[in-house]
Amino acid sequence: FVNNIEEFFTFCNENDVQFVDLRFSDIKGAWHHLSYRYSAVNAENLENGFPFDGSSVEAWQPINKSDMILKADVPTAFLDPFTADPTVILICDVYDIYKNELYERCPRSIAKKALKHAEDIGIADAAYFGPENEFFIFDDVKFVDNINEMGFKVDTEEGEWNSNTSYDDMYNTGHRPGTKGGYFPVAPTDSMVDMRAEMMQVLEQVGLEVILGHHEVAQGQGEIGIVFGDIITAGDNVQKYKYVVKMIAHLNGKTATFMPKPLYGDNGNGMHVHQSLWKDGKNLFYKEGNYGNLSEMALHYTGGIFKHAAAVAAFTNPTTNSYKRLLPGFEAPSILTYSSQNRSAACRIPYGAGEKATRIEMRFPDSSACPYLAFAVMMMAGLDGIKHKDVPTGPMDIDLFELSLDEIREKGIVQMPHTLREALEALIADNEFLKPVFTADFIDAYQHYRFERCVFPDEGRPTAYEFKTTYQ
Ligand code: GLN
Ligand code: MG
Ligand code: MG
Ligand code: MG
Repeated sequence: FVNNIEEFFTFCNENDVQFVDLRFSDIKGAWHHLSYRYSAVNAENLENGFPFDGSSVEAWQPINKSDMILKADVPTAFLDPFTADPTVILICDVYDIYKNELYERCPRSIAKKALKHAEDIGIADAAYFGPENEFFIFDDVKFVDNINEMGFKVDTEEGEWNSNTSYDDMYNTGHRPGTKGGYFPVAPTDSMVDMRAEMMQVLEQVGLEVILGHHEVAQGQGEIGIVFGDIITAGDNVQKYKYVVKMIAHLNGKTATFMPKPLYGDNGNGMHVHQSLWKDGKNLFYKEGNYGNLSEMALHYTGGIFKHAAAVAAFTNPTTNSYKRLLPGFEAPSILTYSSQNRSAACRIPYGAGEKATRIEMRFPDSSACPYLAFAVMMMAGLDGIKHKDVPTGPMDIDLFELSLDEIREKGIVQMPHTLREALEALIADNEFLKPVFTADFIDAYQHYRFERCVFPDEGRPTAYEFKTTYQ
């Protein structure tokens, strides 16, 4: 691993590098790349940037202003573990040559600006994020279009599925986890041991610090625990993690997905995000003797996230599928309260963590989010909460999944939005807290993109279940 351009060339020569792969993230968190021949890379373009067409990336530049620059962040250099020829990957920021500054729609640059904002207002000089990205491993099926426009098969007489039969009854359930049976029997029920081991080893090769891997609650679900990082490193790590998990699954003839809720009736995939702010080497979220040893500042930060939760969700839960996960009973909380230990609350305070490790864990985000944007938006909401001394509802130590809808209404308990449309409407109405870092233009382009790409097409599609309730 390298610190500067000189070390970069030494590293490349030592590893006989043939290609330099430049990577950047779009607003939905997808990684894009360009491969340069090593011979075409020099100190000058590493310094000044590499050109690309910004109009072909969703919700970025118009065709008549399409020239953009990739600025390589040289210390991010690592060898691609999957290419046939030695290839070094460089994570890049997108630079706007018209304005001569970091591009206002580049998520990684936005996260950088968010950290700078925390410093500028004198609150923190470091922000640590510890994301936990869950995933499913499925058999590698080809999603063909010949089923029908709506993406599901209409039952035939022979194949009619009886609603009194559960999926568990239908299939061979020998050494299989079954619904919610994945946490966490040993092999052969856990059939992903070797694949996760491979993932963990390759994650270390690309520079992540791995703690553990385990089967998750749902069938075919897994998770690998990695060490937290500063806001940018944590974002980079999520991108590397998704790349490695998906590639190892692929090389094993499987497919990995981070989709929030692929299976009806079983747990979904979360991206819990552990967070703390630091200043002068001190954890600002720690105060011994308080509930959960949590400082007042940490509570205000949490209060800010809750106050803006509906708008925040437009970034942390940015797909229509996100809201199918946030339902009671699947460890994915929608009730905006905090609690020590309680996994049914939107915010958990890991119990007994001590001075360095005391933090909050936001449990509602999922991996369909762009990590840089999700972290930046939560931090901006949290900083706004600190500014206004917002107080979150709680603590609530009861099982919140047991609450009926009536009780939730009576107690006036605030929940996450229930649809992406709700979240986007909230973002349109409530975005002042983002303004120190997010431009009005970016927020506007973002909500339009989400409406057009996710909300409208989804709202117009009949679901399989609607055939049960409305086929008459
Ligand atoms: N899969 C759950 C979610 O959707 C979390 C389960 C867990 O990590 N305890 O958030
Ligand atoms: Mg975990
Ligand atoms: Mg988990
Ligand atoms: Mg967790």
